[in-house]
Amino acid sequence: MYNTKAYSAASAASPLASASIPRRDPTERDVQIEILYCGICHSDLHMVHNEWASVMPTVYPIVPGHEIVGRVTKVGSAVTKFKPGDLAAVGCLVDSDRTCPNCKAGLENFCPNFTLTFNSPDKHGTAPVTYGGYSDSIVVNEHFVLRVPPHLNLAGAAPLLCAGITTYSPLRRNHVGKGKKVGVVGLGGLGHMGVKLAHAFGAHVVVFTTSPGKTEDALRLGADEVVVSSNASEMMKHAYSFDFILNTVSAVHDINQYINLLAIDGNLTLVGGVTKPLELSPFGLIFGNRSVSGSNIGGIAQTQEMLDFCGQHNITADVEVIPIQKVNEAYQRLVKSDVKYRFAIDMASLKNE
Ligand code: NAP
Ligand code: ZN
Repeated sequence: MYNTKAYSAASAASPLASASIPRRDPTERDVQIEILYCGICHSDLHMVHNEWASVMPTVYPIVPGHEIVGRVTKVGSAVTKFKPGDLAAVGCLVDSDRTCPNCKAGLENFCPNFTLTFNSPDKHGTAPVTYGGYSDSIVVNEHFVLRVPPHLNLAGAAPLLCAGITTYSPLRRNHVGKGKKVGVVGLGGLGHMGVKLAHAFGAHVVVFTTSPGKTEDALRLGADEVVVSSNASEMMKHAYSFDFILNTVSAVHDINQYINLLAIDGNLTLVGGVTKPLELSPFGLIFGNRSVSGSNIGGIAQTQEMLDFCGQHNITADVEVIPIQKVNEAYQRLVKSDVKYRFAIDMASLKNE
């Protein structure tokens, strides 16, 4: 065991602050990574504030962060995929049982025994729960360590590990591509990746935003059209027209107005971890054989597929790189939808603590 620097929160009301946390020494299948960048996902904020208490209560202290890019510093004797000096990445998962039907199908994200990168019981007993990427270093089983295309900007690549796969997976599952009309609701970290990916797949992309100031950016990111969702007449122009809508909104809002825009048999997929139940009018679904679904990150193989796709198409997140000392300020801005379009922490700043 060794100690490493991190930022942690001591309670739902506490700011994130400098801390020292234990990590295990790499066992034979483990990869030790020096973390260079870690993205800030809205899920980090939900968890730090214990907003998901009813489904995933937060254990304190919490060290968030699951959009990790870094360099391998050490590998266990049986590791075959990585060697010291390689670039490496870690997303939302650091372990699963690898034997259940979901794991065998490449869906570690639905393994009943998975270990999330932070706030899951630590199977190795190094600490009560796993500690995430707002930290100097991390040790992860090689199966859960991803390869980063080396030419990608590393700060911009970090958010691919959650925002990238969480949007890539439902877009692929719903066959988004040429000839399809696709909506993306909410232009934050996930939403802007959804726009870039759906555009790269060849779809006609429409962004729905509450922030009129994001219109120009949405077009630059790859949207063909932008609708400010408070404009009812603009919304109605799109009635019965979408094959698929990806909804990334993080707070309570009216989903019925988007269901009404779906074509016959269209699907609205929710990925936002909204903490309160959303109202659903059955008639929006009935008049059109429409459906509403959810989607949870993605499996490890698909995460690698997404990274390779982003490498081929030179896709990264638009990041505002911050030192870790600005993390609490970044959280305040995230709540106000003031993010363009993902914060990435430059972990070199942790050395100053
Ligand atoms: P984010 O960067 O904060 O973006 C959320 C966007 O939603 C905002 O930028 C804003 O976009 C829109 N929004 C916020 N409040 C709204 C409101 N009251 N009404 C309508 N629109 C609103 O968050 P993120 O990191 O992309 O994450 C989005 C959600 O997905 C979070 O709840 C997160 O926990 C969840 N998540 C889920 C998964 C999964 O596997 N399912 C994975 C990662 C994250 P505009 O300014 O354009 O309106
Ligand atoms: Zn996330």
